[in-house]
Amino acid sequence: MQAFIGLGSNLDNPAQRLISALAALQRLPGGRLLHHSRLFSSAPIGPQDQPDYVNAVAALAWDSTPHALLLTLQALELAAGRQRLRHWGERTLDLDILLIDQQRIDTPDLQVPHPQMIHRAFVLQPLMDIAPAAHLPDGTALSSFLEQVKDQQLSPLEELDCDALIE
Ligand code: AMP
Repeated sequence: MQAFIGLGSNLDNPAQRLISALAALQRLPGGRLLHHSRLFSSAPIGPQDQPDYVNAVAALAWDSTPHALLLTLQALELAAGRQRLRHWGERTLDLDILLIDQQRIDTPDLQVPHPQMIHRAFVLQPLMDIAPAAHLPDGTALSSFLEQVKDQQLSPLEELDCDALIE
């Protein structure tokens, strides 16, 4: 199956955190990193007295089940020393499953497509970098939600060549 993963961080050198997380996705047993977006910097949603976020989206080929992917991503978050200080607050690494093929999953611990993804420029914009035709399982183009999030400030970190940094 193919999954799109949203990555975010706003603590402890977030750009480097994301590059390390992409490198970890690249090395996952049972997974293969297919594409990744540029890194984008975005203003926080929720509490405003926290650093800006760095976000990206990756496409991953995954051999096992969706729940195994969730557990694997949670292990990567923990390994990055993830701390969650408050709801929608700062975090060292956040990894969300955005889409898995055309699947709909609605279980207590995993909802796919990610219910918030259509409201977040920091997900939609990087996703357009690598999958401009991506759509929801009902066929709705994800590009159609961009207009609604255009007020959310987002800027690419052009100076970073993350391909050179992911080993
Ligand atoms: P957060 O880290 O704040 O994004 O939320 C983590 C919680 O969201 C975990 O308890 C997961 O079980 C749950 N969750 C539900 N759907 C998803 C998804 N698509 N990707 C990642 N976590 C999810």
